[in-house]
Amino acid sequence: QAKEAGRDRIKVFNKRMLDQAVKAMQLESDLRAAMASDELFLDYQPIYSIENNETVGFEALIRWNHPRRGLVMPGEFIPMAEESGLIFELGSWVITEACRQMKSWLDRYDNASKMMMSINISGRQFSQPTLVDNILSNLMDFDLPPHNIKVEITETAIMERAQQAVEMLQRLKTAGVLVSIDDFGTGYSSMSNLQEFPLDQLKIDLSFVRKMRDSVENVEIVKAIVNLAHNLGLNVVAEGVEYMEQQELLKDMGCEFGQGYLYSRPMSVENVEALFKGDIVLGDY
Ligand code: C2E
Ligand code: MG
Ligand code: MG
Ligand code: MG
Repeated sequence: QAKEAGRDRIKVFNKRMLDQAVKAMQLESDLRAAMASDELFLDYQPIYSIENNETVGFEALIRWNHPRRGLVMPGEFIPMAEESGLIFELGSWVITEACRQMKSWLDRYDNASKMMMSINISGRQFSQPTLVDNILSNLMDFDLPPHNIKVEITETAIMERAQQAVEMLQRLKTAGVLVSIDDFGTGYSSMSNLQEFPLDQLKIDLSFVRKMRDSVENVEIVKAIVNLAHNLGLNVVAEGVEYMEQQELLKDMGCEFGQGYLYSRPMSVENVEALFKGDIVLGDY
């Protein structure tokens, strides 16, 4: 009888795995099609200066308006795009779209000139030898000042290709593009050889910011990361700031920037433009 039950369980397991595999394959072919049509778009989440109480830039975040499934978030398709290699084409689309959008804002709004557009680069995308050339040629094509562009690369992506990373980051720095280390604290090699990499900014992963509420020890951990960053000459963005108390703690630590629902969720192009025009203020729409 146990054997029977065991066999059933295996059957159920296999069925579910098969369903998942079929679904994943479907999503992959859908994503291929999505890139050819207009289903992908970027939202923009403000990055806020805690010191000066002003927006200093936006992070471009990809979304997929799926014809049957509706809005699909990047957590559902970026890993699959990485596995299938679609990330190269997709990532290249993101770089071009974010540059095009930033140029258009610079042309139309005076207050855009001091803003940064942050672009996410995922692990496999960072392994692409042509990545830096691709970024630099977009800057040329759009006649975009490099200091308005920042790339966010995860700690893991950098550490996994340390040697190659130093060279790539150096080329970006020389060109005047800024570099941020994303999701800091979630990688396996936190802190060890960070000073070897030419970086400008460190983004503390939102899991650490969230846990600050739970204990003073967790507050101390965030404080230690902020100090580490400052000692290395990097400025700091805290991800996932949702509450005023978090902002106050971060301000006391000297954390320069915050990003999170306290300021704004990721915004549509239309809302960013309303913000530039002064028709809305953060937290107001
Ligand atoms: P990330 O780069 O760490 O982006 C921050 C994520 O946290 C975003 O999720 C953002 O919407 C979310 N977030 C921001 N503030 C808060 C908050 O206060 N509370 C909570 N709970 N969440 C907050 P999103 O847009 O779903 O993106 C998830 C991840 O997908 C990103 O993490 C990034 O790794 C990746 N991603 C997004 N867009 C792109 C892209 O264009 N290219 C690549 N390669 N990866 C992307
Ligand atoms: Mg990011
Ligand atoms: Mg991040
Ligand atoms: Mg994160």
